Amino acid sequence: MTVAGQEEIPKTQRAAVSDDASGFEIREIPVTQPDELEPGRALVKVLYSGVCHTDLHVIKDEWPLKPNRPSIAGHEGAGIIVAINDPISKLKVGDRVGIKWIAHSCNQCDYCISGDEPLCAEAKCSGINADGSFMQYCPAYTSQLTKIPDNIPLEEAAPILCAGVTVYKALKRANVKAGQWVAIPGAGGGLGSLALQYAKYMGLSTIAIDTGAEKKALCEKLGASAWVDFKETKDIVSAVKAATPDGLGPQAAIIASPMPEAYLIAMEYIRPSGTVVAVGLPKEGAYVKADVFWTVATNKTLTSSYVGNRKDANEALEIAAAGHVKCPIKVEPFDNLQSVYDRMVSGQLPGRVVLDLFK
Ligand code: NAD
Ligand code: ZN
Repeated sequence: MTVAGQEEIPKTQRAAVSDDASGFEIREIPVTQPDELEPGRALVKVLYSGVCHTDLHVIKDEWPLKPNRPSIAGHEGAGIIVAINDPISKLKVGDRVGIKWIAHSCNQCDYCISGDEPLCAEAKCSGINADGSFMQYCPAYTSQLTKIPDNIPLEEAAPILCAGVTVYKALKRANVKAGQWVAIPGAGGGLGSLALQYAKYMGLSTIAIDTGAEKKALCEKLGASAWVDFKETKDIVSAVKAATPDGLGPQAAIIASPMPEAYLIAMEYIRPSGTVVAVGLPKEGAYVKADVFWTVATNKTLTSSYVGNRKDANEALEIAAAGHVKCPIKVEPFDNLQSVYDRMVSGQLPGRVVLDLFK
């Protein structure tokens, strides 16, 4: 067991605790003390945490996957290890680390050894069956903590730990290469604003699909080649196709929107031989619909992408640390969490909000 020498670990902390689907409350709860840490855990002082739309789906019980309550959400946590009970891990006190959606995996099953640890049957998810990052001192599993490179501020690293790694992996699964086009519904949100940038880094041109002047300006600033407002455009399919130079449509679409409507049209506007990557997770009961004849007769692919593995996370962080990608963040105090959710629901949240857990 190693404990931070210079830093006193408090007995209590502030955490956003959810008792039922009506929401959460920020309240004082005990801090797991270093001598109480289970083997394979590190106590992470969480300085910042991004707020992902997933946290909101989970808090509201919108998915078939329900949290073990009382639960603490948050999975874009960035902080510092202040104590560790894991003699095998190379992690040590003082390391800058990130808490992701996948909080733990067995590291021994077929999926884990193939680099598919999000599919591990024993995987634990932050906010579902493991404590998440909306707490000041998180007793995190060391198995899935991600080292954060020195040359990126913690608040900028936070959104990369879910939004960044997810869209980076989705682009890798989109079967596209430099010079091609990708449509990004949800481009003005957390995942989408990062997808625009990782796509650009990969040499792709992007069609941003979202709504409102503020998100349009953001997407253009982040390098989108074209903009389609899904609320104002009558025929989105034609508008997206028309945005590509030959009018045939993009080679791929990364669905970064939490609404089912974004799915219904994507299989239509991608060009023959194109790929739709399902990423956004609408509430329970949403289905992807595609015409079987034309899907087959145009060789279109519908695939999906679920977060990423540890290597994807390292790569996504390295690309951001090198300055190729910068999440448009707004740092707000912990107490703003409910207001962040409210703005998310009303669609008034461009980019990502990162909470300062100690403000
Ligand atoms: P967000 O709220 O920050 O952004 C969503 C954006 O979608 C908003 O800008 C909104 O205006 C836009 N939008 C809404 N309806 C649309 C439509 N019909 N067409 C185009 N755009 C539309 O959300 P986020 O944090 O970026 O998360 C997006 C989704 O991705 C959520 O459902 C989340 O749960 C999911 N997610 C999935 C994974 C994964 O592993 N597959 C990982 C993280 C998040
Ligand atoms: Zn997330």
